Amino acid sequence: MEIGTKKVVLTGMQPTGILQLGNFLGAANNWRKMLDRYNCYFFIPNQHAITVPQVPADLRRATLNAIAQYIACGLDPERCTIFVQSHITGHTELAWILGCITPIGQLYRMHQFKEKSAKKENIYSGLLYYPVLMAADILLYNADYVPTGEDQRQHVELARDLAEKFNATYSETFTVPAPLIEETGARIMSLKSPEHKMSKSDPDANATIYILDEPKIIQKKIASAVTDSGDKIADDPERPGIRNLLHIYCAAAGIGLAEGEEKFAHYQGYAPFKRELADMLIALLEPVREKYRAIKDDKTYLLSVVRKGAETVQPIAHKLLSTAYRKVGFLEG
Ligand code: ATP
Ligand code: MG
Repeated sequence: MEIGTKKVVLTGMQPTGILQLGNFLGAANNWRKMLDRYNCYFFIPNQHAITVPQVPADLRRATLNAIAQYIACGLDPERCTIFVQSHITGHTELAWILGCITPIGQLYRMHQFKEKSAKKENIYSGLLYYPVLMAADILLYNADYVPTGEDQRQHVELARDLAEKFNATYSETFTVPAPLIEETGARIMSLKSPEHKMSKSDPDANATIYILDEPKIIQKKIASAVTDSGDKIADDPERPGIRNLLHIYCAAAGIGLAEGEEKFAHYQGYAPFKRELADMLIALLEPVREKYRAIKDDKTYLLSVVRKGAETVQPIAHKLLSTAYRKVGFLEG
């Protein structure tokens, strides 16, 4: 759907902890550059968050903090719409309809489901169903683009499949969304086990740089990030630790990998590179931390942002859901 001539962008980050560097470099930092070009909807997927166990009071607090972190990352509420998923009627309702045309095998094959269910004693169906809800989030607003990190590509593919299937079955209804994934920053890995992606819900805080980390903490975490015994700073899949740090540098500096490799080609050992990387991250995250500090306790303001967001999107969601209801054969009320 286009509002005026602008295409619609929709995306979100779960309120499952303080945003980490991957969320920033792979997501929010790119999103803020889209505000003028697109009609942007950024939401806080708190209904997704309960697919893993949450302490209710913490989830409520984390949702409020997420609003502040979005704004601190540069998502200016005057130039985009920010809303909370559970405030809107339509996401779960559309997810039900889409679930009824989703092959269950496709859900079992999702990487995120495999990772998040691995070694768990109790696996709940919400975790399996997560990508269907995500498809509903996207299709409910006829989003054209879904900017995310690489880990969400498979989920956006499912949203595309479901849009095409619904349209073919019931007639043209949904826009088929496209993922927007950047070359660098799209898959930032853990500082301690670089074969796994960095995640805000990782219990090992040393494996993760949070966007609100103090400078000293950032220096410490980068200095102790796992590398190898070599000294060549390269985009080498055989050496995932240093490769990840190079990717982080290039994404933060906004340069390509080849340029990054060339810049550090003459460096002796990893220590000077690590120091430069830490300085770069500290400078990059400083304004985010400051802005967050300035607004984080202003509950009235934060709630006003998402209330305004809900007022904007609820009519859109309602209209599309009504169309979907009619198409599948639900009797009007
Ligand atoms: P959780 O551990 O709770 O799943 P998360 O850190 O994976 O948290 P999400 O809320 O699942 O964060 O994802 C928010 C956005 O950040 C998505 O667009 C996702 O693709 C992106 N993202 C998450 N982790 C990374 C990462 N390591 N590198 C790049 N982008 C990432
Ligand atoms: Mg995730």
